[in-house]
Amino acid sequence: MHLILLGAPGSGKGTQAELLAKRLGYTHLATGDLFREAVRGGSELGRLAQSYMERGALVPDEVTIGLVRERLERANPTAQIVFDGYPRKWVQARALDELLASRGEKIDAVILLNVSTPILVERLSGRWVCRAQGHNYHLAFHPPRVAGVCDVDGAELYQRDDDRPEVVQRRIAVFLREIVPLIAYYGAQGVLHEIDGAQEIEAVHRQILSVGGIPKAGSPPRPA
Ligand code: ADP
Ligand code: ADP
Repeated sequence: MHLILLGAPGSGKGTQAELLAKRLGYTHLATGDLFREAVRGGSELGRLAQSYMERGALVPDEVTIGLVRERLERANPTAQIVFDGYPRKWVQARALDELLASRGEKIDAVILLNVSTPILVERLSGRWVCRAQGHNYHLAFHPPRVAGVCDVDGAELYQRDDDRPEVVQRRIAVFLREIVPLIAYYGAQGVLHEIDGAQEIEAVHRQILSVGGIPKAGSPPRPA
């Protein structure tokens, strides 16, 4: 079963994808994390991606779709994937459907995390991210056990350059524009579920499991 988390920057996609990976064994595919990895590696892709990311603009579709294609080719054929930050545009959604169809697979559920702009801004201004694997924390809402250190792998935490207020405004505006055709696309497929993403982290997680039809960890498999 493959799942997509849609939502504005700061809506909780990364946090929820991490929980699905940890508790239910999902493979977490986050294009933002893949781009940040490429930036750190100093590759040509990294330099190109950085020139868009620092402005809060989207990386061109051909590049992004190519990256997802490559990542899917490397994925275990039995992996259940949670897509975080992809697709962000209608063309990307269509390309993903084609990529999955060529493997005999499809998207089973798309979850839209609804969060108002003032809450997004508050979350992004307090977001701290693990340098090793991108685990997400918040100074007030989801603090690490030791300040500045990732609970999972002990790596240093940092604040993203593009979480500065002026870039955040731009990223939210891009989201509001591109989400409209995505809602229409997945709505027409009958796979879209909206959730109030302003609830606390565990409540959002429980709702994703229930609306997405995802069996909880340790529960018996459903009949085929
Ligand atoms: P957030 O978690 O705050 O929503 P991401 O880490 O997903 O942000 O993305 C950071 C940046 O990486 C985006 O602002 C954009 O520049 C680039 N990016 C990530 N995913 C995509 C995508 N699907 N299409 C184009 N650009 C993307
Ligand atoms: P996204 O991947 O959509 O950009 P994140 O998962 O990185 O969003 O969350 C943004 C920030 O808000 C992080 O600092 C995270 O710890 C915090 N956060 C995520 N979900 C919640 C929630 N339900 N309530 C409060 N804070 C949250």
